Amino acid sequence: MDIHTDIIANGDIVRPTYVEVNLTRLRRNFEAIRRRVGGAKIMSILKANAYGHGLLEVARRVVAWGADYIGVAVLEEALLLRRAGIGAPILVLGGIWGNQIPAFIENDITVTASSVEKLEQIEAAAAAMGRRARVHLKIDTGMERIGVHYYSADTLLETSLRCPHVEVEGIYSHFANADAADLTSARLQLERFEEVLHFYERRSLPVPVRHMANSGAILQLPEATFDMVRPGILFYGVYPSEEVPRTVQVKPALTWKSRVVYFKVVKPGHPVSYGWTWQSDRLTRVVTVPVGYGDGYFRSMSNKAQVLIRGRRYPQVGRICMDQMVVNIGWESAYNGDEVVLIGEDGGERITVEDLAAWAGTIPYEVLTNINTRVPRVYVQGDA
Ligand SMILES: *Cc1c(COP(=O)(O)O)cnc(C)c1O
Repeated sequence: MDIHTDIIANGDIVRPTYVEVNLTRLRRNFEAIRRRVGGAKIMSILKANAYGHGLLEVARRVVAWGADYIGVAVLEEALLLRRAGIGAPILVLGGIWGNQIPAFIENDITVTASSVEKLEQIEAAAAAMGRRARVHLKIDTGMERIGVHYYSADTLLETSLRCPHVEVEGIYSHFANADAADLTSARLQLERFEEVLHFYERRSLPVPVRHMANSGAILQLPEATFDMVRPGILFYGVYPSEEVPRTVQVKPALTWKSRVVYFKVVKPGHPVSYGWTWQSDRLTRVVTVPVGYGDGYFRSMSNKAQVLIRGRRYPQVGRICMDQMVVNIGWESAYNGDEVVLIGEDGGERITVEDLAAWAGTIPYEVLTNINTRVPRVYVQGDA
């Protein structure tokens, strides 16, 4: 599916820059979340290439570990999973567009119905195919993104009762601020969702599977657990923000590595890389590492990022290029072939996803999802 799949399958690595995913850690994170939410079902969120960890490999694992559902953002991600033989239930969290509905129904992929009009389109398409569509209703309790507003949700729920070709299996909402220190707005969203759910009680109807909790809510809003939770970043071992209490212990599963491919001595007065943004004030040793913004190593980290070589921390210097960058090792030694840790641990030192986010002026989510498919993923077991 991506350009490296065949090459990696043959055991070759075309260049020494790769992501290592620790499956033992992923599994422990999964189990830690499961313990936290008691008997609730788990929808593993695998959008954006499983937050950069590799969609298919991670999907196969979570299904084996007992995930009840898979959540992705777009239809294409769901179709990739189906074509790879993944039979678990899959919900596409994003809205539907154009003529996608038949593809959902043919492949038994659960549709998000985010308005009355879309629900009616789903009913019509399913009726025309002589099939039933599996649907989760999306209630907007405060994101103002997709979903029917909580204050007009009754119409959507009523319409769903008149759609014989639609099975309303679930109903859900999404928090805007569940990872914040101040939970006032998250509690307000929760109340609004509960209000909507009273519809079923008032009519003595069975309640569909209710779900609302993302990582932030799993960590600090146990009252939002409902019937199912939707962990994303926490499952990958990263906390959604610095404020959230760490009520679930997880460890990052992703390590990003490269190797030294070139060594040179640079004189003062001889600036490094595009734009000549950095130069040494003394004779220094620099090494070239074959990774760049073309792999997702943000250019905005130029002259801020650090890497680990032989268990020591060194600064990246000069502009980060598309495919290469330069690291200043001072007067210490490094040799061609030495491992370079971009994210991960080496000796007692550690560079985190949060570090890169700070250098790049973004959040850990974007650091992970930005590592693109040019970087091969390698899967390992065992945990130190
Ligand atoms: C991405 C996403 C999640 C997971 O969010 P995390 O903060 O990574 O846990 C859950 N629900 C929906 C609807 C999402 O889009």
